[in-house]
Amino acid sequence: MTDSDVSIARATGFSECAIALRRALTTTPAGWLLAVWFCWDRVPSTAIFLWLGTAAALWGGSLLVLQQMIARGPKLELHRKRFHWIAGLDGLAWGLLTWFLIGHDPVLDAVLMALLCGVTSINAQVYGTYVSAYFGQIGVLWGVSVLGLMLVTGSQSAIDYAAGLSLFIALTAYYTRAISRRLLEGIRLLHANASLASQLRSALQKVELDAATDALTGQWNRRALDDFLKHQKTFSILMLDIDFFKRINDEFGHLVGDDVLRAFAQRLREFLRSGDFCARFGGEEFIVVLPETTLATAQEVAERIRKGVAELPLLHKPKVQATVSIGVATMAQGQSINALFAAADAAVYLAKNAGRNQVRSHVETVLPLQVSAV
Ligand code: GH3
Ligand code: MG
Ligand code: MG
Repeated sequence: MTDSDVSIARATGFSECAIALRRALTTTPAGWLLAVWFCWDRVPSTAIFLWLGTAAALWGGSLLVLQQMIARGPKLELHRKRFHWIAGLDGLAWGLLTWFLIGHDPVLDAVLMALLCGVTSINAQVYGTYVSAYFGQIGVLWGVSVLGLMLVTGSQSAIDYAAGLSLFIALTAYYTRAISRRLLEGIRLLHANASLASQLRSALQKVELDAATDALTGQWNRRALDDFLKHQKTFSILMLDIDFFKRINDEFGHLVGDDVLRAFAQRLREFLRSGDFCARFGGEEFIVVLPETTLATAQEVAERIRKGVAELPLLHKPKVQATVSIGVATMAQGQSINALFAAADAAVYLAKNAGRNQVRSHVETVLPLQVSAV
């Protein structure tokens, strides 16, 4: 478990605790009602209302601060102190119960002590993910209520109640701490799983992209081309083959040849729209897919590319000028992809035989269009 894992879990635990406390505080008046109901006719009403007024004032202030804290984002580093104050004031309000309401009726005293134990137990759940504020709260509640018991009644039963309350609070704190550790560990695991899942997702995306990309030119590869074509219905393709590429390799070396391939791919993209698909088909051969494009338009695009390649050198240092022969073919209904490639290849062959640096289309070839058996 790294330090950052722990601090992320603590921060999450804190904000979850703040939200749980807001929910708990909104139900606090139910506890007061219970206390007032028990005390009615047994405790002087001035004492009841004094306690109720004090508790309500502390409660209202705390709830307001908590509300603002949550609205601004309950961040541990920003609101830690404020939150401890809220927890402590809540403990104070409940602890003061002994000061105002105890010592009037022996049965009532026992019931009120049970109510304090109940408050301590409920808050143990509320502060489960941020136990240090809970310790602060029960510390204040314990101190104030025990002091109240001693000061107000000072009797033997007050000592018994103080001892009982102390033992109850100590045990609750002990078990709450253990549960809190498990909760924080759960939060830490959730975070770790989420971050692992996102790392795996991005690693997988990278692997998928690598598997579909040609490493040398950065264009799509043959596998990506096959996938892309599976989803296309009406389209034309250009098959491009750099003229006399072997000579470039022979004259300048293989590494310069690689640079020329990269520059060629870049030049090619300048003539394509974003929806067009460009793949390296083999050594110095590329395929461009032009979706929803007629043969005539595809021929125009091919001609633009041919000119664009021929008129400017592909590399400047060393200066390498190249030309390209392009075969154009349009997908006919029922035609297989392989038949389409063969048609484009035949058109390239025609361009090469006619002297290279040309655009030819499959309709000019003698190759019959092969229609698949399906
Ligand atoms: P043509 O005009 O008839 O197309 O002539 P060409 O020389 O371009 O054709 P040929 O098929 O004879 O040669 C293609 C050359 O491309 C041969 C091969 O060594 C080279 N080649 C293939 N892949 C790569 C590559 O990745 N890098 C480099 N530098 N050269 C490559
Ligand atoms: Mg070739
Ligand atoms: Mg070639």
